[in-house]
Amino acid sequence: MVTPLSWLERVPTYKEAFENVKDKDLHTYGFLGYPCLQTADIVIYSEQAVPLFVPVGEDQVSHVELSREIVRSFNGHFCLVVSEALWDGAAADDYRALQEIFGTAPGLRDESFATNVQRFFKLRAREMGIENFLEKTGKYSKHFSRPSALSEPGVMLTKTPRIPGLDGRKMSKSYGNAITLSESDDDIRKKTKVMVTDPARKRRSDPGNPDVCPVYDWHKLFSTPDTLQWAAEGCRTAGIGCIECKAKMADHLITWIAPVRERRLQYEKHPARVLEVIDDGSQRARRVAQQTIGRVREAVFGWEKKRTEIRNSTTEIHDTHD
Ligand code: SF4
Repeated sequence: MVTPLSWLERVPTYKEAFENVKDKDLHTYGFLGYPCLQTADIVIYSEQAVPLFVPVGEDQVSHVELSREIVRSFNGHFCLVVSEALWDGAAADDYRALQEIFGTAPGLRDESFATNVQRFFKLRAREMGIENFLEKTGKYSKHFSRPSALSEPGVMLTKTPRIPGLDGRKMSKSYGNAITLSESDDDIRKKTKVMVTDPARKRRSDPGNPDVCPVYDWHKLFSTPDTLQWAAEGCRTAGIGCIECKAKMADHLITWIAPVRERRLQYEKHPARVLEVIDDGSQRARRVAQQTIGRVREAVFGWEKKRTEIRNSTTEIHDTHD
């Protein structure tokens, strides 16, 4: 209801997989609907009125954007309450003013005026996002409320949003082009020694371009500002060779990885502690998720309103019997 099929079909990784994966049948809901599942995974751990950011690499940005659109659509559809005064004539002037702002609600056949008015404003809120919609209503915002809503996720990119693998392709364990935390210093040196570099720099005397070199991307992650400057200048002026550039980067990577590897070893020695950390995180995550599910149920089914109605009607019955 809130996710048109076309949104899922245009996800770049979906189209890419169809072009590249020939040995599997990808015509399944699981594959197509994966972004909806991912959206639920993201949003279920959001807290009301707290900005929600997802730390991702550059290649995942479009997925988070789709999640934002799905959430926006959900909020517009389920989390906007339009005041009755806008269709029962009590605030006819305000309704006309809102039409000036948002355009005219198209009349749908077989639908009541009340339904048309609500659909129209919800549609506008879905298109522009509930926050933007409410802001645009200005002094007429009193006619709209949003009892509960999901947070729209945003991306959190680091200054190195795309880390290439040793071979320059996207880093992936399945491509065998990554360095893991458990690798020895010797292995790190061996692997980084054969990393691809700026392909246009054929000879030691050729100036290179660090901006297209995976080794320089790794320098940005692990090296000090001085080394970073040394690599950029040395590369552009052919003052340094790729072998020494890689060796220096490996030095910094090894220094960076040492304490992380040590922590990993400690956890490996104490698996019970790992379980404690996982259980503690799960419990905290579950508390947040339960609250989110509560808000979603309220938005979709209006349980609290129903409960109040039932409570009130029960009280009335008791009062009559008394
Ligand atoms: S000198 Fe360094 S940054 Fe330049 S191409 Fe060689 S490895 Fe890459």
